[in-house]
Amino acid sequence: MFKKRSYTPFYNFSKTSFVRGIQCRKILFLDKYKSSLKTPPDAETRARFASGIEFEARYKSTFPGAVNMKERFKYTSPEYVEATSQLLGNEGEVTVFEAAIMFKDVLVLTDVLRKNADGTYDIFEVKHSDKVNTAIEWDLSVQYYVCKNALRNIRTFNLVNRVGEADFAVTDYKAFVEERLPEVEAYLTEFRQVLQGFEPEVPMGPQCEEPYKCDFQDYCKKLR
Ligand code: SF4
Repeated sequence: MFKKRSYTPFYNFSKTSFVRGIQCRKILFLDKYKSSLKTPPDAETRARFASGIEFEARYKSTFPGAVNMKERFKYTSPEYVEATSQLLGNEGEVTVFEAAIMFKDVLVLTDVLRKNADGTYDIFEVKHSDKVNTAIEWDLSVQYYVCKNALRNIRTFNLVNRVGEADFAVTDYKAFVEERLPEVEAYLTEFRQVLQGFEPEVPMGPQCEEPYKCDFQDYCKKLR
């Protein structure tokens, strides 16, 4: 019934697809090949996204003079990655919003990336949440994996999250994500096999709600 797939796009994994793949291998496959089957986000989810965007914009406003790569490239592309690489290859300090960093077939966009005068990097991932769940930890982990391999000289790797209604807390997660590098590599190896195979037959269960409600539930319910 299910057709075997092959894949050769510009990249295979983003932070989002990696985190969703950990939640359920079937999400990974459906995101890649049947994304039109998703149920659109409800009003509550859309409001949460909007709050997150506003929070991130407020944090970014604390970096005047930064280069916003998203204003130059509306869509991710090899040219976007190349332009980021050229910018970071220039002499001197620079702060970049949405730098496109790629290693192997994994592409990440960093919220804020600061290249220092000594060639080291400070990276900041902004999350509106006031709690750090497993999805955020894996989001940080795969982003660090890509940045460390592509840029090498990471000085700090920071999570910026919410405290109270509006304040920012900045925590350096470098030691935490450094320990996770082998696990990230192992997951990616497994995920590549998932994408090259048949649609996984995964029964619905607790993973459909945690850490986030899966937007393929309507599709999976019809298969029962
Ligand atoms: S609804 Fe559940 S089983 Fe189906 S793809 Fe989502 S998490 Fe996986």
